[in-house]
Amino acid sequence: MIYPWQAHAWQQYVHYLASERLTHAILVSGPAAIGKQEFCRTYAQRMNCTKPGPQEHPCGACDNCHLIRAGTHPDVRFINMEEAGAADRSEQIRVDDIREINRFMALSRQQGQFKVVCINHAHRMNINAANALLKTLEEPPAGSVLFLISHRPEQLPATIRSRCQTWKFSVPDPALALHWLQEKATGPAWQDLLGACGGRPLLAWESHDSGLGKTRTAFYEQLLALMTGRETVTGMSSRLRNEDPERIIEWLQAWCGDLIRCCYKEHPETIENPDVLEGLQNLAQQTTPPCLFDCLDQLAESRRIASVSMNQRLFIENMLVQCQQSLQPPSLQGR
Ligand SMILES: [Zn+2]
Repeated sequence: MIYPWQAHAWQQYVHYLASERLTHAILVSGPAAIGKQEFCRTYAQRMNCTKPGPQEHPCGACDNCHLIRAGTHPDVRFINMEEAGAADRSEQIRVDDIREINRFMALSRQQGQFKVVCINHAHRMNINAANALLKTLEEPPAGSVLFLISHRPEQLPATIRSRCQTWKFSVPDPALALHWLQEKATGPAWQDLLGACGGRPLLAWESHDSGLGKTRTAFYEQLLALMTGRETVTGMSSRLRNEDPERIIEWLQAWCGDLIRCCYKEHPETIENPDVLEGLQNLAQQTTPPCLFDCLDQLAESRRIASVSMNQRLFIENMLVQCQQSLQPPSLQGR
């Protein structure tokens, strides 16, 4: 299955298969939670499907389709794949994992047309793992295709990126994403939630489904309390101890972005967090865009090191302090 917003990409890339423009390694990049994994899974299915249907979609009924869906096809492997939109908590990809993939790729095919490996969160390969993978990229076995899926492709070594064809995905058209969410469930304020999730429909769905929306709202309330001296960094970080640091960075980035918009215009046309607009408007009066751009730079740096940070609590505290320093009037700092 592909998502409605992927129809155009599907047509484009499925054509690569027929026209033999498919290379041995493909870097599938784009924001998290927009359906890249599912696209690759369906593509792997199509590559091996014996009875493709209309629009070149896999039939879903042949042996190959069944086995790939079940994750038990002898020629297709998925590494680090998650349920659609689930929390991104996977660990580093280690050299042993890649050596195993290299061995798998070198084996001859059993029943498929292609040997396919999809590595999700490919940027989580450590340096030894990346070096081990280079071997396969340099001498790819015939009939094999490797998909590297990543929302942080810049963290992959250039030696790897340069050997891949890149398929770039972006945040879907809001109307298509909204329609998909509304079909799944009526009731939630999808437009607000989608906005709060940076336009990423799978994240919006997950937020609704897991109650993450409430966690996010509570986070913003605490953040406002922190910025007005009603909460402390240590108090807030202890409440956040079970949260995914990457998600907290995303929330902080969205919050900073909204503050910048509020600095320029009291009622901005687009805003990611309309539910906390009033708090944002108040805070915008005590800061300036340059301070906020600094804060965004620091958050981008935090994001870069988030996947290798060992002490999660300290890491979150550092980020909160950075935000506090960029935004809080000097009289309240250090409280
Ligand atoms: Zn099939």
